[in-house]
Amino acid sequence: VFNFSAGPATLPETVLRQAADEMLDWHGSGMSVMEMSHRGKEFIAIHAEAEKLLRELMGVPANYKVLFLQGGAIGENAIVPMNMLRGRSGADYIDTGEWSKKSIKEAKKYCKVNVAASSEADNYTSVPKQETWKLDKDAAYVHICSNETIGGVEYHWTPVTGDVPLVADMSSNFISRPIDVSRYGLIYAGTQKNVGPAGVTIVIVRDDLIGQALPITPSAFDYKIQADNDSMFNTPPTYTIYMAGLVFNWIKAQGGLTAIEASNRKKAAVLYDHLETTSFFYNPVAREDRSLMNVPFKLRDESLDEAFLKGAQARGMVQLKGHRSVGGMRASIYNAMPIEGVVALVAYMKEFEASHG
Ligand code: PLP
Repeated sequence: VFNFSAGPATLPETVLRQAADEMLDWHGSGMSVMEMSHRGKEFIAIHAEAEKLLRELMGVPANYKVLFLQGGAIGENAIVPMNMLRGRSGADYIDTGEWSKKSIKEAKKYCKVNVAASSEADNYTSVPKQETWKLDKDAAYVHICSNETIGGVEYHWTPVTGDVPLVADMSSNFISRPIDVSRYGLIYAGTQKNVGPAGVTIVIVRDDLIGQALPITPSAFDYKIQADNDSMFNTPPTYTIYMAGLVFNWIKAQGGLTAIEASNRKKAAVLYDHLETTSFFYNPVAREDRSLMNVPFKLRDESLDEAFLKGAQARGMVQLKGHRSVGGMRASIYNAMPIEGVVALVAYMKEFEASHG
């Protein structure tokens, strides 16, 4: 099937096959990766390789720590302010939809939140232009959600925040294209979209920003403690780290993030170009802010939603139902979705329109 789930999401077939081949006996060790001590030489090698590949793919500068943690991106909504306030009382947040709203609500438990810009007025169908942002020069950081998984709104530019570190929840567009890591103070992302199975939260943080966590911060969520322990202050989610390493290797074999971006642009264009040609379906997002990863679309006649989903399922296209908060459809077309999946979806959309339009 072609699986359009927003996450946990489809993974490259070659990676799953490799994992299956190595499932019972990793590299002649006689053990499954799941059965290895995280302190044994086998797993330490797997962990080091995953970090090395990620650094290479993203061009992570040497003064940034790469952490493999638990707690998810929702956990980071609390963990970020706990670690990043650094003696300041407040932080700036940009509100672009459901996931930013969650970040804002959680951060309010720990600090003064200044919502420096919001696209609420246009029902979260755009990214507010940087000229309209009302940033506080004393803020501890500026937080954005670089891709709103539910609304399908993505930043195609990097905000400029001067000396105030930029913090990004990149859960749903992480490693989907090259970025300049040095423009960010901190990047975090859950793994279950572009990286692998659920279970790891990747944090990439500039090293001068850590070491001043609030005293209430749980040790397992103190970036400095985790950095000093190679993310092994507690037992890490070993199997997901292993799978992430396989996916990083797959991306490298595709030609790295430049090649992945080209493929993602091509896939998204197939779908958005079709949406431009029809009024039977529509996507409400401002053209320049449309996500390359998550494409929400609606049928003008919502009474046909169920029939559309049923027909899709019958044709091997699954998990197209939109998020419960917005309804309609959503096609998540992460790195591992082949172009054939998007082409099949558009063919089905045309067929459905012809028979129901
Ligand atoms: N942030 C974004 C942008 C997401 O898409 C998600 C969805 O999974 C989350 C945060 C929450 O991640 P988790 O459920 O892994 O905590």
